[in-house]
Amino acid sequence: MIPDWAAERSEMVEKQLRRRGIRDARVLRAMREIPREEFVPAELRLVSYQDDPVPLGYGQTISQPYMTALMAQELELTGTESVLEVGAGSGYAAAVLGALAGAVVTIDIVPAMAQLARENLHRTGRDSNVTVVAGDGSLGYAERAPFDAISVAAGAPEVPPTLLAQLRDPGCLVIPVGQMDDQELRVLRKCDGRTEFRVSTLCRFVPLRGGEGWS
Ligand code: SAH
Repeated sequence: MIPDWAAERSEMVEKQLRRRGIRDARVLRAMREIPREEFVPAELRLVSYQDDPVPLGYGQTISQPYMTALMAQELELTGTESVLEVGAGSGYAAAVLGALAGAVVTIDIVPAMAQLARENLHRTGRDSNVTVVAGDGSLGYAERAPFDAISVAAGAPEVPPTLLAQLRDPGCLVIPVGQMDDQELRVLRKCDGRTEFRVSTLCRFVPLRGGEGWS
């Protein structure tokens, strides 16, 4: 029997997102629209809407739906922004960001992951304003900088200075910072030449590798 994906999505939005404080109506709508099951490996499709990360192979995971929604909400996107995502993975979060912003570049350091994201975004018709690049996103993506918003989907030892430099003023960067296996999700806002941050939540992401990540 084929699951009723739309019903599962609605339930996920209600129980995992709205009840936990995701309030941005555009974020809730995007999470209700984007078929997460299309970004999950075929053999794990039945658990697409569980309250968990899903393994993607190569030791990587698609974040828990709540984390994808929270990061998107923290960016306070209105629909016009140019966004960089570091850590394309399956392309799911990039599809969500694409529904919320003007244009998205998502970058992955593992070429096979970039290819997976590209295929998933294309198959779901979400690639009109989302570009996938293979490369070291700890160094940002100078070709399209500056960005109004940057979302980092892997845990960093520190905020990479190059990413902060590629953030427009005003702009917002969300990034997990801390140890290899547990971090705090920081929300940095650049405004009038100054950058301030607050901690949104505790979290656990796979490590950010590369030149300004874990070596
Ligand atoms: N946002 C993804 C999940 C990302 S998992 C989704 O929705 O499916 C984290 C990803 O970060 C992995 O694919 C990993 O290869 C990638 N990654 C780790 N270090 C990186 C770096 N320096 N630059 C770009 N991608 C990186």
